[in-house]
Amino acid sequence: MSHQFIPKRAFFEPKALEYPIGQQVYEQLQEMKVPITLTRSHNRITGIPGDNPQEAYQEAKNTLVVGIRKSLNFAGCKPSAHYQLPLTTSCSSMCEYCYLATTLGKKPYLRVYVNVEEILDQASRYIETRAPEITWFEGAATSDPIPTEYLTGLLYKTIEFFGRQPLGRFRFVTKHDRVDSLLMAKHNGHTRFRFSINAASIIEQYEHKTPTLSQRVEAAAKVAEKGYLIGFIIAPIFHYPGWKEGYLQLLQELDKQLPKKERNNITFELISHRFTKKAKNNILEIFPETKLPMEEQERKFKYGQFGYGKYIYQKETIDEMKNDMQEGVLRYFPDASIEYFV
Ligand code: SF4
Repeated sequence: MSHQFIPKRAFFEPKALEYPIGQQVYEQLQEMKVPITLTRSHNRITGIPGDNPQEAYQEAKNTLVVGIRKSLNFAGCKPSAHYQLPLTTSCSSMCEYCYLATTLGKKPYLRVYVNVEEILDQASRYIETRAPEITWFEGAATSDPIPTEYLTGLLYKTIEFFGRQPLGRFRFVTKHDRVDSLLMAKHNGHTRFRFSINAASIIEQYEHKTPTLSQRVEAAAKVAEKGYLIGFIIAPIFHYPGWKEGYLQLLQELDKQLPKKERNNITFELISHRFTKKAKNNILEIFPETKLPMEEQERKFKYGQFGYGKYIYQKETIDEMKNDMQEGVLRYFPDASIEYFV
């Protein structure tokens, strides 16, 4: 396994210490000799060093904030789930195209919410209001929840909670591989454990501080063995010299490692590379040397819902990628379901 997140510093809202998980994280961090500061609000953290945007971003990614989730109104999460489940925010990795770099703006530090019982009680109420329909919750809408899991156990608790819900289901996605603590959770087939993957060379070039493709697939094989529903997001898919070979090798890696008997209910989500002006500006600020292909004139501009648009590949390129990827997935995994290609 790889890339254990060890914070350089931590901030606690004093109220977080009144919760068992808050207390437990506090004690662990003390043992690990992580400097701890008390703070009034997890939304207003001051004192993270950094003389320029790159340093500030990197330091924030080494900072853990332990707080209480006050608002228990869950945001919607269409089309993949009914609601976001707010457990954690951000992640310790440094992927150049991370969508959170845009959405979290000036607050890319990692946050964990220790009032999980209240959050899950609220989930129960949402489930009740939709009964007898099944209600899905997404646990990774604003984070990768795995890097902090060894400290908090929030996912474990959540997975077991949904295991007990006849009408509640849980899904999340990760680029990480430290999944061992979740293998014994009583999930009851109610959690879909998804892994975000890419061609090995893309991971190496752009997804800093993340496990390799092979390590992620090994983790996926372990959770599949334990009866979890599994899924893969292949994103962002790039059209680069050698892309066909790169993504073919990715599928071969999955084929090599995934247990044969656990292949009848795998989902795939396929997303071609796109960027907005805002994302491009952010990326250039944090990774000035980036080699990401973001030339507007090579792309097609697609108007978005909220007045902003994105630059996607040209139609012929997308069609070629779509056909090739879908055909490849179904060749290796004929019983899988491809949820979408965008
Ligand atoms: Fe962002 Fe996911 Fe990479 Fe973390 S692992 S930096 S959440 S893309």
